[in-house]
Amino acid sequence: MVLRRDFLKLGMAAAAVPTASESKPAAPRSLVANPDADFDYIIAGGGHNALACAAYLGKAGYRCLVLEAKATLGGNTSTEQLTVPGFLHEACANTPGGLFRNNVRKELELDKFGVRFATDPAELSSLMYFSDGTAQQVWKTFDRTVQDLSRFSAKDAARLRVLYKGLSPFLQAVRRFNGAPIGYAPTVEESLMKLPDGPVWVRRMHQTMADTLMQEFESEKFRSFLTYYSTINRQLPYREHTGLDSLDQYNSRQEAGWVLVIGGTSALVQAMARAVEANQGTVLANRFVTGLILENGKCAGVRTAAGESFRAKYGVVSSMHTNQLVRMAPEALGPVYVESASMLKPLFAEMLFCVHFALNEAPRWKVGDQRITCPAVQLIGTLEDRIRQANASLEGRVYDGPSFLQVLTPTVVDPSRAPPGKHVMKFEVLAPYALEGGAAQWDEIKRGYADRLLARVRQHAENLEDQNIIARRIVTPLDIEGRNINNVGGSCHGAAENYAQAGAMRPVPGWANHRTPIPGLYQTGALTHPGGSVRGEPGRNAAWIVLEDQGKDINKIAAVS
Ligand SMILES: Cc1cc2nc3c(=O)[nH]c(=O)nc-3n(C[C@H](O)[C@H](O)[C@H](O)COP(=O)(O)OP(=O)(O)OC[C@H]3O[C@@H](n4cnc5c(N)ncnc54)[C@H](O)[C@@H]3O)c2cc1C
Repeated sequence: MVLRRDFLKLGMAAAAVPTASESKPAAPRSLVANPDADFDYIIAGGGHNALACAAYLGKAGYRCLVLEAKATLGGNTSTEQLTVPGFLHEACANTPGGLFRNNVRKELELDKFGVRFATDPAELSSLMYFSDGTAQQVWKTFDRTVQDLSRFSAKDAARLRVLYKGLSPFLQAVRRFNGAPIGYAPTVEESLMKLPDGPVWVRRMHQTMADTLMQEFESEKFRSFLTYYSTINRQLPYREHTGLDSLDQYNSRQEAGWVLVIGGTSALVQAMARAVEANQGTVLANRFVTGLILENGKCAGVRTAAGESFRAKYGVVSSMHTNQLVRMAPEALGPVYVESASMLKPLFAEMLFCVHFALNEAPRWKVGDQRITCPAVQLIGTLEDRIRQANASLEGRVYDGPSFLQVLTPTVVDPSRAPPGKHVMKFEVLAPYALEGGAAQWDEIKRGYADRLLARVRQHAENLEDQNIIARRIVTPLDIEGRNINNVGGSCHGAAENYAQAGAMRPVPGWANHRTPIPGLYQTGALTHPGGSVRGEPGRNAAWIVLEDQGKDINKIAAVS
């Protein structure tokens, strides 16, 4: 149970902590094979990162067994019939933009295993409404988007062009840093400091997002537009080290558009499971791992709630939340690891409240005299609104003012998710887990809150009257916690990704490179570098380390011919 006071202990971060370059990667360990083992490696948890890790190990010739607690794979990457039969809703993640852009998709040949990305023929990528009702279309080309934005401020448009262009080295540095385990690639700061204007970009990166927006842009509309993009990253606007979040997220959405997988994110997970099975792997659902088998000082397998034991020849890779590991093997992990792990905090004020709808028709959005459909629509507020919303969340209140209400209608691009002609729609807003009076209050207030959100959305779409709505399902942060044991405190990524819990400090400083104090026990998943989202990199990075301990190089194994 996460209490509200736990959320308030935030933001103290940034004490003296080792940087990746200071914390040398632990040396590879010599492996003694367990001759009685059923499999080479056991992977605990069946989310997309666990499956990615197993698929890489399979490619390297190791037999993997993936054990998932629930009846279906995927964790937070899961498409489900949440309202009425035939309507497929994204239970959590909507867009696997990260995985679309990095190498995991290619290296694991996910397209060969059935993944199809949906391509929207429309030139429009997404649509925004500012709090005064003005519509802003985000086009697939940067120039067209900025051209439209320039009606608010020509000066800010020129500044955005300069910053967008100048962002490239930062993006490359991030890609490099995220694409390798901690200690195996330069930190973003190290890469930037090699450039002539590095000190400027490093300052920008480490200041608050609010500082960057106030400093660089004069118009409220530009600031509001970019505030939305940092909000997707679930970072408080006045948190240090978030200064480039807006531009980074805007760049990725602008370049990739609103990325969707045909059939939903579950189709991605199923393709990953096929990739595991194609390399002698086995994937079992309904296997809740409740204990580790520790023998001769090493992790030799796992036990499940049903009393089964599975033994691994070389080791276990866990995608379970670190708090589960700590409960399973406190002594072997040691008191320092246990204490540091127990300090991991959930997402503070950035949980999600969602409403899923089954619809007869897609919303028709009002843009001047036109009526348009669009897969992703956002009702946004100003930077100040976002600060007010964050403060309300921290105080345990829902926020009714304008700030980040996302309306997703994937069926306008991927009709396979609903019966012919019908649609699914989802609202997402930021909300606290711990309401004043306790998280259980959600059950009391959720219907009223969902109704108020619908009333706001109705101002911009002409056909969201009751007759259009076949069914709806409300999902509170409490429900998000209940659906996946890793969603501690309703967190979307297991734990917040503030400075104290990211990079070389995720999940535990000194143990960020996927090894743990227990030989043969590794960690992957959103609680490891580079963190949450549907991107597969934590899975790949964990496989990198496991393979290094076998004397193998993932970059040779993964190389795409
Ligand atoms: C509401 C919501 C919206 C989101 N939207 C987006 C989005 O649009 N785009 C995006 O990129 N990301 C989004 N995310 C984040 C993204 O979904 C997650 O970061 C990502 O799914 C994490 O993947 P994972 O494989 O690390 O872990 P998870 O998806 O959490 O999977 C972990 C799996 O391990 C299993 N498990 C845990 N413990 C055990 C055990 N003891 N034994 C066996 N199995 C166990 C769990 O049942 C689960 O299936 C969203 C998340 C939420 C909650």
